[in-house]
Amino acid sequence: MKVLLIQSYLGGKEPPVYPIGLASLKTALPDHDVTVLDLNMVPEPFDELSRVIREINPEVVGISLRNIDSTHQRTVTFYYAHLKTTLDVIKPLTNAKIVIGGSGFSMFAEEIMAEEPRLEYGVHLEGELTFPDLLNNLETPDQVKSIYYREGETVHYTGKVERQVDMNEIVLAANSPVPFAPYQVNPEAIGVESKRGCVLDCIYCIYGFLNGKKLRMRDPAKVVDEIESLVNDHGVERFTFVDSIFNVPIRHAEAICEEIIKRGVKVKWSAWFNEKQVTRKLLDLCQQAGCDNVILSPDGFSDETLEKLGKNLSNQDILDAYDLFCETKGMTFSYNFFKNPPGQTLSGAFAMLRFLIKAKRTFGRRMSFNLNSMRVEPHTALYDRAVEEGIVQPGENLLHPKTYIYKPTAYIEHFFNLLLMAKDGVRALIR
Ligand code: SF4
Repeated sequence: MKVLLIQSYLGGKEPPVYPIGLASLKTALPDHDVTVLDLNMVPEPFDELSRVIREINPEVVGISLRNIDSTHQRTVTFYYAHLKTTLDVIKPLTNAKIVIGGSGFSMFAEEIMAEEPRLEYGVHLEGELTFPDLLNNLETPDQVKSIYYREGETVHYTGKVERQVDMNEIVLAANSPVPFAPYQVNPEAIGVESKRGCVLDCIYCIYGFLNGKKLRMRDPAKVVDEIESLVNDHGVERFTFVDSIFNVPIRHAEAICEEIIKRGVKVKWSAWFNEKQVTRKLLDLCQQAGCDNVILSPDGFSDETLEKLGKNLSNQDILDAYDLFCETKGMTFSYNFFKNPPGQTLSGAFAMLRFLIKAKRTFGRRMSFNLNSMRVEPHTALYDRAVEEGIVQPGENLLHPKTYIYKPTAYIEHFFNLLLMAKDGVRALIR
């Protein structure tokens, strides 16, 4: 079957991100004639989409909707609007069946199927097993689990799938249909998965819903096989581990680093770390294995905010990890905090600010930070909290972004917004 897989368009202002989901999906479809098109990598995305559809005349068009918006970033950008334009281009050109999937779709499956009747099927959650099954059952989608499909005006859901992708079955780099070189302009563009799932319980996070609460770890040797292939076969010089948290569990992270060191793979990488499991030994191993950027998302700073955010961290854990970072030469550190998380106080906000100023003075350009807002996403504990506090109405459509504001200290959110605007203004003047 001729299949066109499209990476959804983000509007042209985002740095390129390698479409790891579509690359993985392509490897799961060896019996089909599959073309992959990343709309974010061509100068005129919708002209190119028309051209490719005319050229290959697909029988199925699969759209990967990875992001609805930029989630917790300071300024939320709404990407979902481009889906409509994409369908406006596709529909008049072809009678191909249109299937949607991806994380963004899975978060808002019912809302999207209701809003966009031109979508005939939706693949919920992981597509590597479900999408190939659907291609074999397009006339009988009720036979495939984890599918949304239409019957007249009614949308049906076929129920939860029991099987999950075996992470040791994933082969990416060696078979990838998408060239890596054009993505390397963005240092964080190329992702490697060492596991899926997250055992932690951050209240705002949708990751557990999307990838499960149970960890599915890849054999460290297979992870490093993939890294070696990226480096040797595709000229990749750096990548990022796209796992929820690289160093949970710590032994798995250490084993991957040891394998990279043992094989002498020369590559640079970054990863998300949890302060609770940062040790001297781990940092040394990571650095020897090529890690040069540690990304952290403590989100809160005081014990009260950390507890209310459901983090597994205390303020002391953040400070202890920071002390280890201070002893570490040559790495960069990126911190993410929320401006006004639940449990925030004025003194807590100033303590966080003092910490950031101190870190900036210590590390200079080796340290960066983001102060973010909290986007309310469905299927999260933050959603329940936002409903209880009247910020979100029960049943409200959250496809269109909504920000959680902790009301007792709403002024802190505004204060930080002003501060960040002033910082941006100074930067613009300097440039
Ligand atoms: S550690 Fe990361 S992935 Fe896990 S629950 Fe927290 S935010 Fe989500």
